[in-house]
Amino acid sequence: MECIFCKIISGSIPSYKVYEDDLVFAFLDIYPCSQGHTIVMPKKHIGLFTEMNKKDASDLFSSVNIISKAVCRAFGLDGMNIGMNVGEVAGQSVPHVHVHIIPRKEGDNGGSMHNIVETNPGTENLADLAKKIRGSF
Ligand code: AMP
Ligand code: ZN
Repeated sequence: MECIFCKIISGSIPSYKVYEDDLVFAFLDIYPCSQGHTIVMPKKHIGLFTEMNKKDASDLFSSVNIISKAVCRAFGLDGMNIGMNVGEVAGQSVPHVHVHIIPRKEGDNGGSMHNIVETNPGTENLADLAKKIRGSF
């Protein structure tokens, strides 16, 4: 077993656990973007979010919902960013599906999802793009 997150789940690598049940494991990020930065992952090893089935993804996000409320209460947050890096090109450094919960407070000078990438794709062909996606389910 080479996966670092699988090792965290099994306990062979220590972590600051915040939640665990049959399906998911949540712990503090060792290089936090803000205080309380938490990672939630499925116990089952799956590399990419796009490889998950609907049930596994639902279970994961259901837990993210519950855990995010606890993180919010624990630190009296004003908000949070919740998201995933899917694939190396998007910044995924650990190939085991995980969701970041990044606490936010007024005045923290952070950004939003809109700061992740800007390729200036234009908006004139949005109807075609939507059609393309609708045709790809
Ligand atoms: P990503 O870049 O989306 O793949 O996220 C991986 C995250 O895991 C990074 O934010 C790292 O700081 C975090 N990380 C890596 N190793 C550990 C570890 N041993 N304990 C806690 N967090 C870790
Ligand atoms: Zn793994």
